[in-house]
Amino acid sequence: MALYQAKLDRIDDLDSWMDAARPFLAAAIPPDAIQWTSSETTGDLFANGVSPPQLAATTAVRVPAAFRQLARSVILHSDANRFALLYALAWRLQRERGLLNDAVDPLVRRLHILAKQVSRDIHKMRAFLRFREIDGRFVAWFEPDHHIVRTNAAFFVRRFAAMHWSILTPEVAVHWDGKSLSEGPPASRSDAPEGDPLEDMWRTYYASTFNPARLKVSAMLKEMPRRYWKNMPEAALIGELIAGAQARESSMIAAASQTPVLPASLAALALEAKSCTRCSISCNGTRTVVGEGRADARIMLVGEQPGDQEEQEGRVFVGPAGQLLDRALAQAQVDRQAVYVTNAVKHFKFERVGKRRLHQTPTAAEIDHCRWWLDQERAMVRPSVVVMLGASAARGILGKTVKLSDFRGTTIDLGANVSGIITVHPSYILRLPDEKQRALEFSRLVQDLARADAMAAHSRCSPVDIRAEVSF
Ligand code: URA
Repeated sequence: MALYQAKLDRIDDLDSWMDAARPFLAAAIPPDAIQWTSSETTGDLFANGVSPPQLAATTAVRVPAAFRQLARSVILHSDANRFALLYALAWRLQRERGLLNDAVDPLVRRLHILAKQVSRDIHKMRAFLRFREIDGRFVAWFEPDHHIVRTNAAFFVRRFAAMHWSILTPEVAVHWDGKSLSEGPPASRSDAPEGDPLEDMWRTYYASTFNPARLKVSAMLKEMPRRYWKNMPEAALIGELIAGAQARESSMIAAASQTPVLPASLAALALEAKSCTRCSISCNGTRTVVGEGRADARIMLVGEQPGDQEEQEGRVFVGPAGQLLDRALAQAQVDRQAVYVTNAVKHFKFERVGKRRLHQTPTAAEIDHCRWWLDQERAMVRPSVVVMLGASAARGILGKTVKLSDFRGTTIDLGANVSGIITVHPSYILRLPDEKQRALEFSRLVQDLARADAMAAHSRCSPVDIRAEVSF
C-alpha cells in the first residue's frame, strides 16, 4: 500500500519528474511506498495523500549521467508506469552504481525498450509528418504514440525555420511564426486541411525515388506502418508501385545485363546459392543451407556451417546445437522468430566414418569463399547486432581469425551502426565433459544473447561510464 503521493503536473518533462522524485530519493523512500499521479493516470492532481518528505538541505542525491540520458527518453513514453519505473531505477542506482551496465537486468532492459519505442516514434514523426498549405501557413496533423511533440518541435523549427507552420495533434498543438514557438490546445483531425498542390510534389518525389529492386514489403510496412498512410499523399501510390515492382525489377535487370546483378531478395539469394561451387566443400554433393528468419531482423545470429541434420533438412540450427541454441534464446527471452539465423559456411563439411558423417571444421579459405553469401544476407537483413557463435562465425564476419577469449564480453564496432558480439558456439557447450562447466558456459551464452537483445532494443549500446555522475 503506497504511503506517499507524488504529483506531477507535466507528464513529458524530466526536470519536473526529477523535482518530484528528489525528496523521496533523499529520504530513501522505497519505490513501492510511492504512488505517482498525473493528469494521465487520474485526471486529479490534488488527490489526498501524504506529502513528500522534506529534503534536508545537506542531502545530495546523485545518479550516473547515463541515467538522465535514458530517463529523458523514457519520460516521453505513454506507459503510465514510467514514473514509477524510473524511480525504481534511480532508487536502485543509489545502491548499485554499476546497474546501468547490466544489460540483462529486467528493469534496465524494460526501460531501454521504452526508450527505443520513443525514439522510433520521434523518427516516424520526422519522416511521415506532411504539411498542407492553407492561406500561406503550413499545417500538419499527426498522431504520435508517445508524448514526443514538444521534444520534436525543435527539429521542425530547425528544418522549416523560414516557414510559418502548425503541428496539430490530439495532445497539443505547436505553432511556429518564424520567430517563436507557442502551444495551443489539443486538436482533432478535422482542424487540419485535407489536400493541396504540395501533394503532387510528394507523389512525384516518392515515385521517382522508389526502387523496385529494393522493395521488401514487410520491411517497408515496418518502416512506414499503414496507420501513417492516411496523412501522406504519396501513400496513394504504394499499392500501384508494389504491383508494378516485379515488372520494373525485371526490366532493370535486363538493362543492367553487363554489370553483376545482386540477388534482389533473400529468396532469390537462396536460389542462387544452390548452384554455388566457389569452394571445395560444395564438391561433396551436400545441399546449400542458407539462413532463415525475419528479413528485417534486428539481430543476426551466425553459426559455423550446417551440421548433418541441418544438411538433411535444408534448415539452419535444427539439430542438437540448434536445440541448445533454442533453449538459450528462450532463457534470454529472445524470440527465435524475430531474429535471422545463418552460418558462415553454407555447406556441410564432413568426413565419412562408416555410415556416419563426422563434422569437420571449415578452413579459413573456405570461410572466406563463402563470405560473399554472408555479406549478401547482412546487406539485405541489415541487422543492428550480429552475434558470432564461435571462431568460424567470427572469421566469416570479421574477415580475420581472432581469439574468442580476447573478445568475449566486448562489443565490436562493425561499422554502419552495426555492433558485433562474439560468443561460443552451442556445439562447444555440448562437447564440454563437465556438467558444471556446461551449465556455466550455457548461462554465459544466455547472457550474451540477452546483451545482444538489449543492444538491439536501443540500437547501439555504447558502454556506460558509471563514474560520470550528475546531481539528481
Ligand atoms: N552448427 C552450426 O554452426 N550451424 C548450424 O546450422 C548447425 C550446427
